[in-house]
Amino acid sequence: MSYTALILGDTAATRGNVAECLDKTGLVQRKLYCKDARRAIRWLTEYDIDIVCCDWRWEVSEEIADLMGVLRRRTEWHDLPVLLFSTVDDRELWMAGMELGVSEVLPQALSMKEQRVKIRWHLKNRERIQALHQAQSQLARIALSDSLTGLFNRAYFDATISQEIARCSRRGLPLTLLMVDLDHFKKINDTHGHLAGDRALEAVAQVLTSQSRTSDTVCRFGGEEFAIILPETTNCNAAIVAERIRKKIAQLDLGFPVTASVGIGSAKVTKSLLPDHIIAEADGALYEAKRKGRNRVESSVLNTGVVSDLHLFRKFRAAVATA
Ligand code: GH3
Ligand code: MG
Ligand code: MG
Repeated sequence: MSYTALILGDTAATRGNVAECLDKTGLVQRKLYCKDARRAIRWLTEYDIDIVCCDWRWEVSEEIADLMGVLRRRTEWHDLPVLLFSTVDDRELWMAGMELGVSEVLPQALSMKEQRVKIRWHLKNRERIQALHQAQSQLARIALSDSLTGLFNRAYFDATISQEIARCSRRGLPLTLLMVDLDHFKKINDTHGHLAGDRALEAVAQVLTSQSRTSDTVCRFGGEEFAIILPETTNCNAAIVAERIRKKIAQLDLGFPVTASVGIGSAKVTKSLLPDHIIAEADGALYEAKRKGRNRVESSVLNTGVVSDLHLFRKFRAAVATA
């Protein structure tokens, strides 16, 4: 394993001392140097640094305090080991170093073997913590995604819709929810088998993802139902997206036809809006689309009621013509 160290010291001589200690341990292959916290932060931002080693005297205490302040505030640097090398036999100084929140103070009196063991422990400890973080974020991804389609799952949807309502309400923005439900999907399963049904769900998920913006949240709501949260989007603009999605799904070439009905629920978000309100709105529109024959889009705006077909159709046509 090849490690990179950042060495902080206020003079070339003190930086050289720290570098010499590190060289003798044989653990660090690459060294970067700086004399103040500002430059240290710059190197940390630009390079992949495994350990920070500082020459420790009262003269540099302010720089190291500044550096520690930044390191402990930034989550990506929380676990970065910071070692203070002290050439001065001053226990007050060592204690002050520890109080800054560094990982360890290494007095010069330590043998080379002791220093090596301690430095190696800090490097390995960081690797262990990083591996744990990776496993943790992998688990979080699994917990929030749907294993068949790779889309976000219902738990993620529930958390996100509440967050988006809060955000849009603070800024007085509109919010739209699309509910997409595959038509007669039970029949597809019954006729072509569940594996073919699964393939269709995967293909539809891809359509939904490719037709959405990065700011939209595409989720598998459950079974053959999908939900897309479109923040800062009006009903009319969402209608263009919904119509595009409907068409693309109908054009899928899976060896059997697949169509979807789409319900659009929109609201000008206020503090009193609950997720259930907008879900019910989109659901109502979806029900309407099913009732009117499927493979179509229907729309509803909260507090305004279901937009009449003709009115919506005109809006659609105008929006599609200018898109
Ligand atoms: P409608 O047009 O009214 O929505 O009819 P539908 O047949 O799509 O609705 P229904 O609720 O009767 O059936 C939904 C079907 O979706 C039944 C269920 O077996 C199927 N389904 C749900 N989840 C999955 C899945 O993960 N894989 C497969 N292959 N089928 C699924
Ligand atoms: Mg269905
Ligand atoms: Mg359904």
